[in-house]
Amino acid sequence: MPTTEPKRVPDPGAARFPVVDPATGEAFDEAPDQQPDELDAVIDRAQRAWSGWRADPAARTTALRAAADAVAAAGEDLARSLTREQGKPLAESYAEVARTVARLRYFADLAPRNRPIDDGRPVRSEIRWRPLGPVAAIVPWNFPLQLAAAKFAPALAAGNTVVLKPSPFTPLATRMLGSVLAAVLPEDVLTVVTGREPLGARLVSHPGIRHVTFTGSVSTGRAVARAAAASLARVTLELGGNDAAVLLDDVDVERIADRLFWAAFRNCGQVCMAVKRLYVPVRLHADIVEALAQRAKTVAVGPGLDPATELGPLNNAPQLARVEELTRRALADGARAAAGGHRQDGPGYFFAPTVLVGVPPDSPVVTGEQFGPVLPVLPYRSLDEALKAANGTGFGLGGSVWGTDLDRAEAVADQLDCGTAWVNHHAELSLAQPFAGVKDSGVGVAGGPWGLYGNLRPFVVHRPPEA
Ligand code: NAD
Repeated sequence: MPTTEPKRVPDPGAARFPVVDPATGEAFDEAPDQQPDELDAVIDRAQRAWSGWRADPAARTTALRAAADAVAAAGEDLARSLTREQGKPLAESYAEVARTVARLRYFADLAPRNRPIDDGRPVRSEIRWRPLGPVAAIVPWNFPLQLAAAKFAPALAAGNTVVLKPSPFTPLATRMLGSVLAAVLPEDVLTVVTGREPLGARLVSHPGIRHVTFTGSVSTGRAVARAAAASLARVTLELGGNDAAVLLDDVDVERIADRLFWAAFRNCGQVCMAVKRLYVPVRLHADIVEALAQRAKTVAVGPGLDPATELGPLNNAPQLARVEELTRRALADGARAAAGGHRQDGPGYFFAPTVLVGVPPDSPVVTGEQFGPVLPVLPYRSLDEALKAANGTGFGLGGSVWGTDLDRAEAVADQLDCGTAWVNHHAELSLAQPFAGVKDSGVGVAGGPWGLYGNLRPFVVHRPPEA
């Protein structure tokens, strides 16, 4: 497989850790296991690079546009590397690279607006936005490239430097991305560090870091917030989700079944904003279960590099064990699998696409985040009951409502307690929208201009009208 060695990551030491192909369960490569002294050196260099990078907004725009072009040109190598270590079908990796490029282009042309404060007093006051300093960007393994870009593109556009740490399950495509970007960005403006824990913990508690932007699980998010408290660095947390989809009684089952299936199963269910619970009117329950189970049984599951594959493996062994245990527990508690319900025979981390019925509402596969190809379908008798259940978990990332009367569906969607709600689709995000989970799903706002300002601090200058 193609690898490109990063040029400017300061000489990683000799320590390495293995990287596993989830389609085989076998290690196929390795990545540097960077140690505390190397991390200190990287952050030190990021601090020194900051003064030059923050000084020239026009140069930043030019550099970030060039970065987008460079990533697009490396698209094929990046996509193959991503599929090999992450597991997703190659077409999805290409789409992820395209979204990475789109984020760079969007933020390259976004600049903060300095503006006067008009409070009626005869004082001239102006807000001028300032960057924060070195930013730590920490990313999970489900969308390593696009989630990284969603962090480093606004941070860099704002005039900060960035230290980017991918998950140890998916370090290689991000290292390649770091190398591609190093060829077009000034030295030490963006550095990729890789390693096993406690590398992330050290990064977020380092006094040289002024903003920690983290995407990952709720429990790690809490640890990150605690660690960053020591240096009072700003913290932005994009955490887990347990999105509900509510089907209304006028929904056209056949028309939406395919879209709904992919809203739950894309990337093997490893999407923060996947549909993770489905609430359907009792009258439609059998029809929707049949439609989804039929798709679950016929979807092509296989290695991501096989062009016929529609659904790859889970990314890693602990995640497979977690999905298996949640499913086993639901079945033991009285649920039935209308499709799947078990891991697949053979090598790799494959789990059969699973549709569960008869799941007790307090089962952990309903109340928690399965993050896998397992969908509980829960019947409801009244819309109030469905909304209460949909809003009844500790999560609040996204949600959706599906029906034929769009005004009615939108009025129901408006009652979901989450950051983004959709009608008749799920998890489609605009680059220009604010992205913010509520409850345990996040702290702070990413995306759009909010993502840029999340990497800036206001600085206000007052002066009298005359000397
Ligand atoms: P995770 O929390 O285990 O790890 C995320 C990252 O944090 C990894 O890079 C990991 O190495 C690092 N890390 C681990 N311990 C750390 C510590 N003490 N300090 C600092 N960094 C540490 O999450 P995961 O299993 O990689 O990813 C799956 C989770 O991510 C799911 O809960 C999913 O919902 C969530 N997620 C959320 C969003 C969102 O935008 N809200 C998007 C994608 C994934």
